[in-house]
Amino acid sequence: MRKDKIVMPSASARLQSALHALSQALEKRPDKNADTIEADLMAGRVPRYPPITMGLQIEPPAGDAPRGEPPPLQRLAEALEGAAAGLAMENPIRPCLPVGLGGVGFLATAFGAKLDSDNPAAATVVKEPLSPSELERCAEPDPLTGGLTPQVLQYIDLIKAATPEWLKLWLPDMQGPFNIAHQLMGSEIFLEIGDQPKRLHRFMQRITDHFIAVHRLLCERIGPARLHPSDNNRYRIAECSCNLVSTGVYEEFVLPYDLQICRHYGNRVAIHPCAGRHVTEETLRHLPVVRMEAGKVPCAVAGSFNMDEILPRLGGRKTVLLYMEDLLPGVEEQTARRYIEALQRHQTIEFYFGALHWRQPQKQSVVDLHRRLDDFYMACLGRSGDL
Ligand SMILES: [Zn+2]
Repeated sequence: MRKDKIVMPSASARLQSALHALSQALEKRPDKNADTIEADLMAGRVPRYPPITMGLQIEPPAGDAPRGEPPPLQRLAEALEGAAAGLAMENPIRPCLPVGLGGVGFLATAFGAKLDSDNPAAATVVKEPLSPSELERCAEPDPLTGGLTPQVLQYIDLIKAATPEWLKLWLPDMQGPFNIAHQLMGSEIFLEIGDQPKRLHRFMQRITDHFIAVHRLLCERIGPARLHPSDNNRYRIAECSCNLVSTGVYEEFVLPYDLQICRHYGNRVAIHPCAGRHVTEETLRHLPVVRMEAGKVPCAVAGSFNMDEILPRLGGRKTVLLYMEDLLPGVEEQTARRYIEALQRHQTIEFYFGALHWRQPQKQSVVDLHRRLDDFYMACLGRSGDL
């Protein structure tokens, strides 16, 4: 049976038109270039444009199974087509593409773990944890060929060949040594702490060595002209799993490896503490933190810091704070304004506001609120010069 042929634009035609659209969008809205905002923050200044991002609740995907990765050129075209999507919410956008695969599971794959790719709710987490003795026997992963790295390297080469130099590349999600160990071992890791501390240290060292080798390799392959300058991209450690252990366990089993990574980074690190109070305090105390995330989270495993609590902990440091909070119904605007005024106390804050009641049907009212908050920010900036 004959079907009428539908002519679809080729991936490379889509790529060219998406590149053009992204450059036009950035030209038209210089105030929404996240890189300009971030350059001010990293230089220790109050940003010249509103450092505000707002998000709706993510709706569950329509289909029931993830469709898998498209061919690389199509993936690149789709990523570019989505690169300016945030503008519809009045959010800052970047001339930048992520190169990662496997999400939070990227580095775990080098140690033989399979990701739960067919599970739409957890496609980037390890499917079956491996036993500590299996992991001890696992051969040393090669940074060039281990896990998903070869595919990431190919994708980097493709982007560099197919796009102009103004488009920057964002590293994969490297997580952090303890998060990776926890992903690989599952809950066994908590038994290792008490029963096999030396074996756990050996494994943490192997993860750290691999982390540093892959980070170095990816940065070199992307090259200084194309690597995105953000601290949050180049120098990040995610400490989510540290919320499940005490301060003492962090200091004994995690800190030595975090410090090695910080040294490799050139003594700067952006920390994702996953809200936890003791994780925030410990990392601020021991590490050269240039960027910290915080925000009130009602049900956090190890608590969280609100704006009034986190600012004194940053003290006089120039640390950039990413402050995130779900705003409560009826007081969204006044709460957000109060937080924006905190820039008088700490100059380098960026904001991410969400709310549990902000869903697709509320989109226009959230966009309107975003515009009012941007106006408020610029009016404060105009009055004081630097808020
Ligand atoms: Zn986390």
